[in-house]
Amino acid sequence: MTNAFPPSLGQRFLNLPTALYHPIQAEPLPNPTLLHWNEPVAELADIQRGEIDPHKLAAYLAGNQSWPGSTPCASVYAGHQFGYFVPQLGDGRALLLGDRNGWELQLKGSGRTPWSRAGDGRAVLRSSLREYLCSEAMHGLGVPTTRALSLIGSPLPVWRETEETAAVVLRMSPSFIRFGHFEWLSHHKQTATLRTLADFVITHHFPSWQTHPERYARLFAEITRLTAHLMAHWQSVGFTHGVMNTDNMSILGLTLDYGPFGFLDTYQADFVCNHTDAHGRYAYDQQPDVGAWNLTRLAQAMVSLVSSDELKAILDTYPSQFATHYIQLMSRRLGLKPARQHTGVILGLLELMQSNQLDYHGFFRDLCAFDTTPDAKNHALRDQCRQREQFDQWAAQWRHALTEDGVSDADRRGIMLRHNPKYILRNHLAEEIIHEVRDRHNTEVLNDIIRVLHAPFDEHPDLARWAAPPPAGTRIELSCSS
Ligand code: AMP
Ligand code: MG
Repeated sequence: MTNAFPPSLGQRFLNLPTALYHPIQAEPLPNPTLLHWNEPVAELADIQRGEIDPHKLAAYLAGNQSWPGSTPCASVYAGHQFGYFVPQLGDGRALLLGDRNGWELQLKGSGRTPWSRAGDGRAVLRSSLREYLCSEAMHGLGVPTTRALSLIGSPLPVWRETEETAAVVLRMSPSFIRFGHFEWLSHHKQTATLRTLADFVITHHFPSWQTHPERYARLFAEITRLTAHLMAHWQSVGFTHGVMNTDNMSILGLTLDYGPFGFLDTYQADFVCNHTDAHGRYAYDQQPDVGAWNLTRLAQAMVSLVSSDELKAILDTYPSQFATHYIQLMSRRLGLKPARQHTGVILGLLELMQSNQLDYHGFFRDLCAFDTTPDAKNHALRDQCRQREQFDQWAAQWRHALTEDGVSDADRRGIMLRHNPKYILRNHLAEEIIHEVRDRHNTEVLNDIIRVLHAPFDEHPDLARWAAPPPAGTRIELSCSS
């Protein structure tokens, strides 16, 4: 058996009823160039590039060459976009190549499909880089996410607000099935196919329930749990997705479809990263509630499988599942044992950050060096606050909680340094990398940034400049255009 590239793929998606997908080839991408290859992700799917010529490799990764065993297909789904049901969406520019080692391989930006509507089927290098980097950043932070295997650039012009150039990301996920797939089947009253899709998800992702009489209720309960946990992670790391439509919600609770996402800089609870979202529907502090709203849409699509009473009872567990996980994640960030009584310390810190306009990530990282001795003033932290007394009060509260928990100072520091990242893919950093790659043709920078994003809790002294918050007064506007 040879390990040479290209590896052979399976295509389990073809076992699903044909209503759900359309086999189609990628549109050839002119002059594809390999900009980055993400070795740890390749290893997940047992893919070796070996000695293959980079041009040949790029041809496969762009979708210009067929992979052995692959029948590429695009799938159809629906979704609630900004609150309104859109019955016909689908992979308008994505193409599922197949699967390997439990991972599905999907091209994004590989040309038109039956579901492209008015779109060109392409993705620009700017947004492809953002997806590439952010999926790896989220993984580095411990947040469930799809992954990115490779990034291909091309001189093909693509028109957005201005002329840009095309790129293709090869992304990987245990599944690319969305809430919207179930919504599409439910809308079209394809009850049998909907059941087959649920069974498919169970077979591949929760095989131990295959014959369980309550398997569909279990499935919905698991999607609810995973979604609640994902929202807790997003809130904890200060991530805003930007387009939390149900077609962008993964049934495995993974961060999916990176568009106008943004991490907080200065803490602002109602931060909106997508400037097209004029009403702030998907603001940072709305995300947990939107998660519940989206799950309710999925529940409505699953009424043929699970009674509405059961669905309702499962939905009712969402707030406490979210809160418990959020407190767990935030407690870790403060070196505390996860317990409800610490909610006041956590919320007090957020209030401190909001009223003193503190940098969310920088302040957490600085808190690692907090001196717990009773008379310590902690000037380096205190002086960042305009309202010093508020800091003193909060610090006393935190110190009290730490004493109650009986965590030693050395242990606390160790825990905090492992849970408060030094490096975050802030928008200004993403912009810097885009400038380097797109305008200065510097692809080496991708090795550096991926190294940092995969280990964001480490110091990386040579790249410490990337830990800085944005220069004062800069604000980057992002829209859905990608
Ligand atoms: P998004 O807002 O990126 O989640 O996309 C919403 C829908 O529009 C999905 O069905 C996408 O596949 C489709 N779409 C977005 N951009 C394009 C494009 N350039 N060409 C074709 N379809 C697109
Ligand atoms: Mg999408």
